Amino acid sequence: MKRLSIAIDGPAGAGKSSVAKILARRMGYTYLDTGAMYRAVTYEALRRGIEEEAAIAAMAAGLDMTVAPGEGRMRVFLSGEEVTDHLRTAEVSGAVSRVSAIPDVRTVMVALQRKLSAAGGTVLDGRDIGTVVLPKADVKIFLTASPRTRAIRRYKELGGSEAGLSVDEIEADIRRRDLLDSTRAASPLVAAEDAVHLDNSDLTLEETAEAIMKICREKAGEER
Ligand code: C5P
Repeated sequence: MKRLSIAIDGPAGAGKSSVAKILARRMGYTYLDTGAMYRAVTYEALRRGIEEEAAIAAMAAGLDMTVAPGEGRMRVFLSGEEVTDHLRTAEVSGAVSRVSAIPDVRTVMVALQRKLSAAGGTVLDGRDIGTVVLPKADVKIFLTASPRTRAIRRYKELGGSEAGLSVDEIEADIRRRDLLDSTRAASPLVAAEDAVHLDNSDLTLEETAEAIMKICREKAGEER
């Protein structure tokens, strides 16, 4: 059966990465978490104290970023040093939208993402996969859920009240990121014209993955 390239786009907390991981595992495909790549650039900018946009872009262009499949999540390395555990802090989450809005940062990341997915048999999740990174992806999914549902999911993911953030605070951050990601000039978060829209507010991860697998099977069947 043809090895497909699968693009899953959508806002924060829609379950893109969880579903992409399930799909990759079941299909024997490689999962590429493009958000983690923007987070790694952000982490490095924070670590080096670089604030100016042109300087962040220059730094991104010189980064030696590599990725590898990991237990439950994609691993990211900068010059061989693993940074995976530093990418989901509140500090990085708070700064990543600004970094990912820098056009020259996007150019560098998109080139790397295309290279890493060139062989097919890949599931990519992000904001601009179906529109910019892989406009010819075999399957394009635009995954959404209500802001409240997404906030509750992230709350649980962060370990409930131990995270020190309330559901309301997380929802406010999600709405702020949605707005920044969908109104930025460079590759805003929009659905590709040929994407299948899937609102999974009332679906479990399993049901969401199954719905996408069905679309993939149909597509693979068509192209056999
Ligand atoms: O998916 P995740 O929440 O880890 O993404 C972090 C941030 O990276 C997003 O809020 C968005 O600003 C940016 N991003 C992007 N394009 C992608 C993936 C993520 O701009 N393809």
